[in-house]
Amino acid sequence: MKVHRVPLGPYETNGVILEDERTREALVVDGGGDADSAYQRIQALGVRPVLHVHTHAHMDHCLQSVALAARLGVKNAVHADDLPLWRNLPRQVEALMGPGAAAALGVTSGADPELLLKDGDVLTFGDSKVEVMHLPGHSPGGIGLLFRGTPCVVVSGDTLFRDGVGRTDLWGGDWNVLLVSIGQRLFTLPDDTVVWSGHGAETTIGREKANFPY
Ligand SMILES: [Zn+2]
Ligand SMILES: [Zn+2]
Repeated sequence: MKVHRVPLGPYETNGVILEDERTREALVVDGGGDADSAYQRIQALGVRPVLHVHTHAHMDHCLQSVALAARLGVKNAVHADDLPLWRNLPRQVEALMGPGAAAALGVTSGADPELLLKDGDVLTFGDSKVEVMHLPGHSPGGIGLLFRGTPCVVVSGDTLFRDGVGRTDLWGGDWNVLLVSIGQRLFTLPDDTVVWSGHGAETTIGREKANFPY
């Protein structure tokens, strides 16, 4: 499996494209930050997307997700516990970008995701597959996508970053829950597991565990 990262939109959210090398089928993760740029990158790679998955439903990750999925001809998937955030996209935009921002950007509540995820679900693309890890704390329905390989790979969203963790002051955020998701789920993965975060550069579980200040 190959991983491609493309920073998208004003918040530089990482769109992550997981490619099954033999079949060229791909999972697109968090491509909604900028549908045009995500679409162009997918076209340039020449992969065939099978699903658009979200690490969580904060506006910087799903702003244009409905448009992108329609263009790609795939379903949107999000953890069930982030459905309220998904449905309140305009309110998120107003809260973070200022009053009037949703109207100015033309952001409206889009169609619900066609696929709701839960812990332990397995998503298949070609000969490859990832497991859904429910990682609440940054948002109620945050997930990681775990690929068990050599090394393992996890797409962590905003739960864990290189040199940091996700904020917990947004809707449904909870610091203690976040620490459990990191300590009891992510930090039990092998040290050489490569972590692709929602923003910024990649890291490893071992590096973040060694530098973890909490
Ligand atoms: Zn977030
Ligand atoms: Zn984010």
